[in-house]
Amino acid sequence: MHELSIAQSLVDAVAEAATQAGAQRVAAVHLRLGALAGVEKEALLFCYDVATRGTPLEGSALIIEDVPLVITCEACGARSAIPINRGFACPACGKLHTRIVQGKELEIASIEVEVETPEEVADVEDTPA
Ligand SMILES: [Zn+2]
Repeated sequence: MHELSIAQSLVDAVAEAATQAGAQRVAAVHLRLGALAGVEKEALLFCYDVATRGTPLEGSALIIEDVPLVITCEACGARSAIPINRGFACPACGKLHTRIVQGKELEIASIEVEVETPEEVADVEDTPA
């Protein structure tokens, strides 16, 4: 499934960032998802649960922020949010000289982590024999 590999790489990226930040657990991941990203939100949420199992992200929330499709028109300069699947003509002047400004996003906006106090995790791997 397409969404599973996306969830997988998302989890990998977040786990790495969390480790670098010294976090033991990830509480929530905020994702910006463009209308044109080609990702099924429901499928991604389902795959996220699967992909996070056994990782520091297990049990965390995936919070998806929908990013609408926005185009600018090279002909008249109008900037418009438009529905997907209706073509890319400028709603202001009808010309097709438009450029996509946003709507393809699939990016991590922020991560909420839980950092345990150093005392609680200290010396776990260095227990004297
Ligand atoms: Zn226009």
